[in-house]
Amino acid sequence: MYIDSHCHLSFPELRAQLPEILQSMRDARVERALCICTTLEEFDRVHELALLHEQLWATVGVHPDNEGVQEPTVDELVELSRRARVVGIGETGLDYYRLGERTLADMEWQRERFRRHIHAARRTDLPLVIHTRNASSDTLAILQEEGGFDPHDATGLPLARGVFHCFTESVEVARAALDLGFFISFSGILTFKNAADLREVARFVPLDRCLIETDSPYLAPVPYRGKTNTPTLVPYVAQHLAEIKGLALEAVAAATRANTLALFRGMAAA
Ligand SMILES: [Zn+2]
Ligand SMILES: [Zn+2]
Repeated sequence: MYIDSHCHLSFPELRAQLPEILQSMRDARVERALCICTTLEEFDRVHELALLHEQLWATVGVHPDNEGVQEPTVDELVELSRRARVVGIGETGLDYYRLGERTLADMEWQRERFRRHIHAARRTDLPLVIHTRNASSDTLAILQEEGGFDPHDATGLPLARGVFHCFTESVEVARAALDLGFFISFSGILTFKNAADLREVARFVPLDRCLIETDSPYLAPVPYRGKTNTPTLVPYVAQHLAEIKGLALEAVAAATRANTLALFRGMAAA
């Protein structure tokens, strides 16, 4: 059995073929999937998937790439996260890939948004789904500052916990994330020819800290690269992770499943 820890089934191209996707997931032994929220405007659509389908769960959060959307307060994130079958906060984080003419100083709004998500996660003791691109040092620094890791933290709140999703960073960044107690999630990128560095990271991350995901509709694994991705293809990610680590596929499937349920505790209920 497999779990896809990160997908976007609420996106129109996937939502339109949901019955077929749910059936093909069953055929491929993909028993559960976590539907990730990227704007507050989208939340009801993501949440509805989790309410209507027993194999789906939801998160709440605003993706760092989304500008000109409703800006979430900590209270709003906390309140929405308490709805049934919402099991995580995100996706959130930092993305400096599309800076354009802007400087890093101009991106304070992203860092502020990320801080609010961390506060909401600590207030609810829910895991963070972290997206980071071209921004790993700021992402780690803000997690350190706001996550309760400072010995002088006086909030009395639990430490931030969560996953760095669709990991594409270095071994050093992976080590820093692991040191903070976070999990690392690998996507179909692991199967791409030019991803030798990432396979090195996958060799490094202990199996008991690995998650797998599709990030569908994006990043379909080889041999489907370039096609629309769905949770049905997550076994290909597991297969590559197993080959990289020299382990049996079943061992990787079982471990990543157990890790996902340990992190997103609400998914273990059913
Ligand atoms: Zn992402
Ligand atoms: Zn995503």
